[in-house]
Amino acid sequence: MAVAFKHYINGRWETGVTLGVSENPSDLADVVGEFARADAAQTESAIRAAADARDAWAASTPQRRFEVLDAVGSELLARKDELGTLLAREEGKTLPEAIGETARAGQIFKFFAGEALRIPGQKLASVRPGVDVEITREPVGVVGLIAPWNFPLAIPAWKIAPALAYGNTVVFKPAELVPGCAWALAEILSRAGLPAGAFNLVLGSGRRVGQTIVESPLVDAISFTGSVGVGESILAAATARRAKVQLEMGGKNPLVVLADAQLDRAVEHAIQGAYYSTGQRCTASSRIIVESAVFDRFAEAMRQRTRALVVGHALERGTQIGPAVSREQLEQDLAYVAIGRDEGAEWLCGGEALERPTRGHYLSPALFIAQPRHRIAREEIFGPVACLIRADDYDHALALANDTPFGLCAGVCTESLAKATHFKRHAQAGMVMVNLPTAGVDPHVPFGGRKASSHGPREQGSYAAEFYTTVKTAYTASG
Ligand code: NAD
Repeated sequence: MAVAFKHYINGRWETGVTLGVSENPSDLADVVGEFARADAAQTESAIRAAADARDAWAASTPQRRFEVLDAVGSELLARKDELGTLLAREEGKTLPEAIGETARAGQIFKFFAGEALRIPGQKLASVRPGVDVEITREPVGVVGLIAPWNFPLAIPAWKIAPALAYGNTVVFKPAELVPGCAWALAEILSRAGLPAGAFNLVLGSGRRVGQTIVESPLVDAISFTGSVGVGESILAAATARRAKVQLEMGGKNPLVVLADAQLDRAVEHAIQGAYYSTGQRCTASSRIIVESAVFDRFAEAMRQRTRALVVGHALERGTQIGPAVSREQLEQDLAYVAIGRDEGAEWLCGGEALERPTRGHYLSPALFIAQPRHRIAREEIFGPVACLIRADDYDHALALANDTPFGLCAGVCTESLAKATHFKRHAQAGMVMVNLPTAGVDPHVPFGGRKASSHGPREQGSYAAEFYTTVKTAYTASG
């Protein structure tokens, strides 16, 4: 088979030192493509290319950056059905979800095309007579972008687009499970008018490619999205050599349902937040904390809705829940279902491996009633496994919501303005939702969390400038 997905280094397509295979998790007989895998030396050549291109791209005009990013955004939007099909085939989310993600990636490129024309600065009066003070933002330099598999177009978009908009050059390393999506995005970028070396794609393992990027003295900043364990090792390595670093990691997001909530709507938010995208979202509602007065009614409605969800091939019309992304992820999901049962959580439904006409990593969405101490209520599972937790009242629910090492997103369903307002102020999370699922965010506003979920400046919106630029203060004698 010809290598379908290659590296893009210094303006050229390159094959790898070794090869990997990208499989369709809905149908293991369907090979999405073979992909190149780089070693440290090939990764270093991409880093050098980005370093060599750095001054030229930093000097590019805002208009040129706008045109490049706008063209990428337009092409993603125009090809959203075709690229969404590739995404659904490679990652396993349903086709409507995958098309939606592709469109979102296009919108992100267009937003940052506009940001390239709005790079902020400030002019202030000095405390000294005869002196002017200017504060400007400059590119950081070479940025290493390391992405997970669960949003294979949107997450790369929200890293690559601001990096280029603010004048940085890029070495992008996607997750090994989704090389086809990364290649498709790189192919669009390769025709968008960038100078050679300004954008580089290197495919391969975290240990070889990722670690080489993190440890290279030529890489000025690293933006990582992925698991807590890998994030912490990157933080240690990057901090040791004083590189700028931004981490977006896991979540164990609470959705609080109060007794005065519209229960039907709350059930729909919980189902959407817990199970859509197969629960493989850092913002998934994996802890559904329900006030005692409505707990039994809510649990029964939730059980019925969960059992009715249609699990199937990601490309099949009518599928609501696609497969787990990989055998490892499926095994992790099933292991947590077993842990839940062993620890004494009350099983309500699901959590079984399923067979479908094509061989894939299918499982039925699982629902438990858990105690706050249970591992399924504390650890990120990253699959369609959710637990219900009983709360005595609002104060207890808020305390349970905050009783987690993570702090990405927190939601509340209530008709009370006073409680919604209190929750918005006191939830220990970077993002709060009122009468909405915890998953599902806008691209033009900041995204990120607190505690073990995130480190460093926020991603997305105009707040992305904090990470992708460095501030300069200039004094000029005016008289
Ligand atoms: P992961 O940590 O295994 O891998 C993420 C990326 O890091 C991959 O590209 C991987 O190859 C690379 N990597 C692995 N080891 C490395 C190393 N030693 N040095 C450098 N790079 C290395 O995560 P994953 O399984 O791809 O994604 C799932 C995780 O991502 C979940 O924990 C999820 O919560 C998290 N996530 C977080 C957000 C967020 O914004 N908070 C968004 C999506 C996913």
